[in-house]
Formats: sequence, C-alpha cells, structure tokens
Amino acid sequence: MLKSYYEILNISPNASKSEIKKQYKKLAKMYHPDINSSLEAEIRFKEINKAIEVLLDDEKRKNYDALRENSKTTYKEPYQTQKEKHNPIHGEDITVNVKIDFQEAILGTYRVVNINHSTLCPKCQGQKFANGLKCPVCDGLGEITQNRKITVKIPPSIKNHSKLRLKGEGHEGKYGGKNGNLYVIVEVEKSSDDLTINNGTVYYNKYISPYTAILGGDVKVATLWGEATIKIPPLTKSFQSFKLMDVGVLNEKTNKKGEEIVKIIIQIPSDLTDEEYRLYEKLQEINLKKKNAGII
Ligand SMILES: [Zn+2]
Repeated sequence: MLKSYYEILNISPNASKSEIKKQYKKLAKMYHPDINSSLEAEIRFKEINKAIEVLLDDEKRKNYDALRENSKTTYKEPYQTQKEKHNPIHGEDITVNVKIDFQEAILGTYRVVNINHSTLCPKCQGQKFANGLKCPVCDGLGEITQNRKITVKIPPSIKNHSKLRLKGEGHEGKYGGKNGNLYVIVEVEKSSDDLTINNGTVYYNKYISPYTAILGGDVKVATLWGEATIKIPPLTKSFQSFKLMDVGVLNEKTNKKGEEIVKIIIQIPSDLTDEEYRLYEKLQEINLKKKNAGII
C-alpha cells in the first residue's frame, strides 16, 4: 500500500524520463490485460499507470518528491517499515490472582477479572503511521492498551494456589504470533471452622472436655452447611471418629452431599476453678483406692 512509485516501477528516484518510459513499456508488456488476465496483473497494471501518470508529469513529480522528502524528515522512512520482514512474536502471558473462600473452593464459583492487555491499534493496524503521519490513536506505538473483563470459571474442589490457564487471553501476538495466555492463580482462604477436605471427604476435629468424653452427650460440630449436633456415647476415646452423612461436599451430578468425618480430641481444660481442681483430686483418690483394693 505504501510502496513508492519508484518502487512500483522498480527504478531509482533519480531516474530520467526516458528511463521511466523504457521501464514502463517493459512492465506494461508483462501486465497488460490483453496479455495477462490474472487479478494480480490487473492490480499491477493499475499501479504502474498511476505511477507513470505522476512521474512523467514534471509538476506532479516535483510535488510527489517533495512530499516524500518531507515525510522522511517527520518520521522514519515508511517504505522501509513496510518492507521489513518481521518474525512472529508471541504475546506475553498475563497472571492475575483471585481469592475465593473455602465454600467456593468446594462448590466452584466465578470471578470477573479485569485485565489490561495490549492489542493491535485499530487505526493504523500496527503500522504506527496513518495517512503519512504518526498515528494519533496509538501515538505511533502501533498498539493500544485495552481493559477487558473476563469471567473465569473456577471448578469445584479446587486446591489452594491452583493455576488456571485461559488460552489466548493474554497479550496479543504480533506479526502472526500467537496470543499469550491468561493465568489465574486461585487463593483459597482458610476455613474459619478448620474444616479440611481430602478426596472429597470433609474432616473436622472436635475438641471436648474429659467429662463429656466420659459421660457422653450432645456436641456441636461445624459442617460446610453450618453447625450440626452429634450425640457422642459415654466413654468416648480421644481420636475416636464419627461419620456424618449428607453434610459433606455436594455432588453436582447426583445432587447429594457427601460425608464428614469428625475426630474427637479430648482437651485438658486450662482454666480450672479450685472447686473443679478439688474434684479431679477426689477422682484421683478414688482411683488410687481402687488400685489398692486390687480392683484395677
Ligand atoms: Zn495506531
């Protein structure tokens, strides 16, 4: 498009009129529609005629040369830019971080990410110049920065620090190069209830007092869906586990919830009152008596 008339005719800018005419005759013989009926020949023939129309007219040629000279001083030789062969350049990747909560990590969720990515200038198509002047849209950079909102689907059961790849959603490639990728790093905020998940099963540690362990009773436990109450039997041991059905991870296919394993841990109280302390001493005395009597 930006080929000079001299380039079209394949002659030096200093060529004389007779040289121009000679070259025109040569090219016209090759591309004349009567001789060559291809589309390319038709285009070339039009180009040649346009070039000759300007270059054989002294006034037109003078103006044309002045314009070329002027454009050389205001910006780098555009004809050179046009002729340069570029290797494809891959667009750079973009990485963004998103935070989701524990529940979202289990069930899956969506996040809208805002990214600034570079893209080919729509005005100059990366040529940096428009109508012979520095492109006003991209300020001669050939590319512009665009803000884009992308909705990212975060699949269920995602682990903390997982990296999702959205192919081709990064910066645009140049000269036919591939677009970069968008990487989304998912940070899962820790559950406030200390629930953990392994292979689709939810785990929870429940701390109980020694007397609850001995006497049994109702204890409250956390689940993904809120608090639940379970009944533990008398003489429950530390690290004994209880299985809760239908309070775990929701299976989207079957629409059923999985299981949760509650592990009991007996916790020694740290804030005993004098009265409680005396009662434990009493228990110790009784235990000692049993030993001496040969009961245990
Ligand atoms: Zn531009």
